[in-house]
Amino acid sequence: MTDGTIRGELEFFRDLGVTDLFLEQTATAVPALVPGSLPDLPSLQKFLAGCPRCKLSAGRKNIVFGQGNPKADLMFVGEAPGRDEDEQGLAFVGRAGQLLTKIIEAMGMKRENVYICNVIKCRPPNNRNPEPDEVASCRPFLDEQIRLISPKVIVTLGTFAAQALLETDESIGRLRGRWRTARGVRVMPTFHPAFLLRSPERKKDVWEDMKLVRDHLAGN
Ligand code: URA
Repeated sequence: MTDGTIRGELEFFRDLGVTDLFLEQTATAVPALVPGSLPDLPSLQKFLAGCPRCKLSAGRKNIVFGQGNPKADLMFVGEAPGRDEDEQGLAFVGRAGQLLTKIIEAMGMKRENVYICNVIKCRPPNNRNPEPDEVASCRPFLDEQIRLISPKVIVTLGTFAAQALLETDESIGRLRGRWRTARGVRVMPTFHPAFLLRSPERKKDVWEDMKLVRDHLAGN
């Protein structure tokens, strides 16, 4: 409708004596993320701002997009934000995050030189496992992060991240410590740091996995 037609319609109803107008609320379409359409991480983060795409949006305090070096060789991908991450809007800042920092430093790297994010960008209630529709809504954003960062290696942390990224239902026991590929990038699945806090005897397994990553990044 042109402005002229709208004016005509309004004048018609005014002449009939109508004084109140009720506007029907139509749902605003949420734009779909077109792969390859955004030039950098800040544009992607802006595109995600205020995301209403799944039911997790109702309970979150902050979207946890991910942070670190946008040109990192090494990217860590976890499951979903916990309470601390939701509060701060940053990935892996709680106890598991502190352990992740130690792991990164043991590899001879600094946390600010890698990139850290999650498959799911909003906190699931009571830290329950993310549901398939939530993964489906969020997955394109992880894929775009991987495309824009173009890391040499992705380390997935825990069962959920490995299974989601590799699109498999194999157990973490079978997956960890073995190179895989996703979206053209080498992937090393390992245990989640939160699991290591409960089972510190498995730290040595993670260290074996991280040595493979460190050596690969060093060109060995
Ligand atoms: N666990 C995760 O998987 N991600 C976080 O950001 C924090 C804890």
